[in-house]
Amino acid sequence: MADTLRLTEIFYSLQGETRTMGLPTVFVRLTGCPLRCTWCDSEYSFHGGSIHALDDILAEVAGYRPRYVTVTGGEPLAQPNALPLMRALCDAGYEVNLETSGALDIAEVDPRVSKVMDLKAPGSGEHARNRFDNLMHMGPNDQLKFVLADRVDYEWARMQIDQHGLADKGGELLLSPVHGQLNPRELADWIVADNLPVRMQLQMHKYLWGEEPGH
Ligand code: SF4
Repeated sequence: MADTLRLTEIFYSLQGETRTMGLPTVFVRLTGCPLRCTWCDSEYSFHGGSIHALDDILAEVAGYRPRYVTVTGGEPLAQPNALPLMRALCDAGYEVNLETSGALDIAEVDPRVSKVMDLKAPGSGEHARNRFDNLMHMGPNDQLKFVLADRVDYEWARMQIDQHGLADKGGELLLSPVHGQLNPRELADWIVADNLPVRMQLQMHKYLWGEEPGH
């Protein structure tokens, strides 16, 4: 359908992770995801939602007068109109983040958008879906994220960083523990022991609001 998107929610909160952690941000959560990560915390966005005109989404975002907008899901890129949405958000002057699984092609994403792309580790159950060609479209403004469930995932991430020369690409490398599964202290100790060139992050919104949707 032209100029419409299936939307789960729009809300204003603090960004809980990534380079803009702690900054007030409007979240545009699009409905649907072709993946099923074992530790997914946004399963409520897999189905349902409602159809909205792109212009209506832009108007609702503008109502919050934000500086930062995050387009998330689900997997936003599963909807082709996510591309014109992000372009329009950039044209409106916002600083736009895209949270994407790494399983779909990111080549056509507006270059003004900071892509926050996952590389799915084995513990997600979806690591066969990683689209490694996407790495050639990641630049200094982008952020590559590993969510880790255990030591096996950590070793896998370390190997990817090494094999693909990810530390030399200029963007952020983010390592997060699966909330409630991998002890953050353990991950911190591993990173320091290995002198790994990454930024560790915790999901701040989980500490503030738990699993409540809308944050
Ligand atoms: S890609 Fe994201 S939304 Fe989709 S199943 Fe995995 S964690 Fe959940």
